[in-house]
Amino acid sequence: MSMRSAWIPTVLVAAWLGCAAPQLPAPERAAGPGGSAHYHVRVDESLSTLWAEVCFAGEPPSAMVPLGSEASQALVQVYDSEGVEVPLPADRRRIPLARFGPGDCLHYEVDLLAANRQSRMTLRRRGDLLITQALWLWAPSQRPDTAVCSVAFELPLGMYASVPWAREGDRYLLDESAFRTAGNTVFTFQEPRRFERAGVAIEVARLPGPLEADGEDLEAWIGAATEAVAGLYGTFPRDRLHVVVVPAGPGRSPVAFGLVRRGGGASVMLLVHEQASRRELVADWTAVHELSHLTMPLMRGEDAWVSEGVATYYQEVLQVRAGNQPEEEAWAALLEGFGRGATVGTRRTLADEAEEMHETGAYRRVYWAGTAFALEADVALRTEAGVSLDQMISRSQGAWPRRQTWQRGAMMHRFDRLAGSDLLVPLAERFADEREFPAMGELLGRLGVSMVRGRVVLADDAPLAHVRRAIMSPLPASPHERDRPRKN
Ligand SMILES: [Zn+2]
Repeated sequence: MSMRSAWIPTVLVAAWLGCAAPQLPAPERAAGPGGSAHYHVRVDESLSTLWAEVCFAGEPPSAMVPLGSEASQALVQVYDSEGVEVPLPADRRRIPLARFGPGDCLHYEVDLLAANRQSRMTLRRRGDLLITQALWLWAPSQRPDTAVCSVAFELPLGMYASVPWAREGDRYLLDESAFRTAGNTVFTFQEPRRFERAGVAIEVARLPGPLEADGEDLEAWIGAATEAVAGLYGTFPRDRLHVVVVPAGPGRSPVAFGLVRRGGGASVMLLVHEQASRRELVADWTAVHELSHLTMPLMRGEDAWVSEGVATYYQEVLQVRAGNQPEEEAWAALLEGFGRGATVGTRRTLADEAEEMHETGAYRRVYWAGTAFALEADVALRTEAGVSLDQMISRSQGAWPRRQTWQRGAMMHRFDRLAGSDLLVPLAERFADEREFPAMGELLGRLGVSMVRGRVVLADDAPLAHVRRAIMSPLPASPHERDRPRKN
C-alpha cells in the first residue's frame, strides 16, 4: 500500500486497509472427484442486484461458503434448479447443498446496494461499481486440486466486467486465490483498455470522474511502471496484471493512494489526481511501489515493515534503473523518507509498530525503517556475499506460493541460505526489536551520499561508491547474466 499525502480522508484509508486482503482458512479437501463449479453471473443496469447461477460438474460440494461475513449479509435468496428456495442456517455462513446432485444448479441473489452499505471495499462512481469478489462470490466448501471453476458474465448492453482472472474464451478461470483473498471486480460502462508490456497482459479499468490523463496516458504510465518493476530481475513477476484507476479529484501529487490485491490474480487500485499529466504519472513512484509488492509474498502483520520496506526501497531504485528519475532524486527521496520516518512512531519495537500501524497511524516509521533495512540488507549482501537483494528475491519467486503468508524469519533464513551467508537473519531481528529509527548516516556516508545545503551530493571516491552505482544501474542486457525465475 502507498499513500502520498494527508489529502485522502483518513477514514477512506482506514476503511481500505482495515479490510485489505482478508485471509481465509484452507478449504476442506475432498478425496473424490467433483468440486468443479461454473458460475453464470448477471447484474441489472443500475448495479443494485447480482444473480449467480452455479452449476456443478461431478459431485457438488456439501455447501457453498462466503469469503467473509459481509457476503452473508448481502445474500438475499437462494434457489435450486426447480426454483425451490434453499433454507439457510440462522447465521447465513453456509448454503447447504445436501439435496443437490451432479449437474444441478444453484441460484443465489446478492444485494449490491446492501453490500455497498456494509462494506467499505466497494466504490460507486456514477453508474460504475468497484467491488471485491469477496462480497459476491460464494465458494464451493470442498475444492479438490482437480476442480475447475469458471465464471461467465451476462451484462446489460454497454456494460463491461473487468477482473484480474485468466480469460479463456468467453469465460474466466478462477484459481484458488480467488476463493481465499480479496480481489477487485469492476462493472463499468467504459471499455477497459487491454495491452501488453514486458510480456504482461495488462487490463486497465477506469472509473468515471474528471482526469486529465486519457487512455493512452494511462497505458503509457502503467506500461512504464510494469517495465520498471521488470527491471528488478529481468522479468515481471506475473503474466497478467489488472489495474483500476479511480479519479480522486484535485491534489498536488499525481497519485493519492495505491493498493494491491491478490485474490484471483494481481490487481492494483490507484487513486489518481485530476490534473496529473502523463509525464508526472510516469515519474511518480506509487504504481512502481504497488507493483514491487508482487515480487514479494504476503507477510504477517508484524513483518509488514519488511514487505513495505522492500517496496519503498525499490520504488526509488527501479525508477532510476528505468530512466524515470535521476539517481540524485532517488537518494533525496530516501534521505527525506529516513528523516520523516525518524520523526514519528510510538517507541514500540518495529515489529509491534508494524502490527499496530493501522491503529496508531505510524505508517512512516514502519515504511521507512523497513526501507532502511532493505538498503542495509542489499549493501551487506553485495559487499559481504557477492550477491544482491534483487537476486535473493528473484530466486525465491518459486518458493513464495508454498506458504500463504510468510514470516520474516523464514524469508531471511531462505535468503541467507541462497546467499551462503548468515547476514540477514540477525539483521532483521535487530531491526524488528529496535525502538528507535535506525541511524543511517554512516552507511550513507560510505555509499557517498550526503546532503549539502539541502541538495544531495554523490561522491564517487567514497569506499562503497561502486556499490551505490551498482544498486542504481539497469540490469545487464544479456539474459545469461540475469536470473529468470518462473512466473507465478
Ligand atoms: Zn505498500
